[in-house]
Amino acid sequence: MSACIFCDIVAGRAPAALVYHDGGITAFLDVRPLFKGHVLVVPDGHAETLVDIDPATLMALFAVVQRLSGAVVRGLGAEGSFVAVNNRVSQSVPHLHVHVVPRAKGDGLRGFFWPRTKYADAAEQEHYRARITAALGG
Ligand code: AMP
Repeated sequence: MSACIFCDIVAGRAPAALVYHDGGITAFLDVRPLFKGHVLVVPDGHAETLVDIDPATLMALFAVVQRLSGAVVRGLGAEGSFVAVNNRVSQSVPHLHVHVVPRAKGDGLRGFFWPRTKYADAAEQEHYRARITAALGG
């Protein structure tokens, strides 16, 4: 066993209900699903968050995420899916993983409530927009 449970799953050292394992990407059922069929998609190489992977890995990862978003609908009769990544905050396993969760209208997903706020005025909105744009470097 290594220090990372998802590295152990990828390497076959820890048990998991595998859904996909090819091309450097692995997907398996979350042991404590939001809804049954909740899948985690991970890059095989250890990386902590979304900003820590290279573009080719990102493309491979999200190609599988896209396929699984369709597969939970077709395979489980879900009406849609929820796709999410926690980066450091609320991230309980520090190996990048994308949650693909089957959804149905009125499924009552709890613990997922986004209280919305407002910008005080246009100047404050511009301040946030400009900081993000500057960080993008373009
Ligand atoms: P997060 O809190 O966004 O980092 O999500 C981590 C997820 O990993 C949680 O939903 C856990 O239920 C799941 N998890 C933790 N350990 C395992 C494991 N050994 N096999 C499958 N899922 C796991």
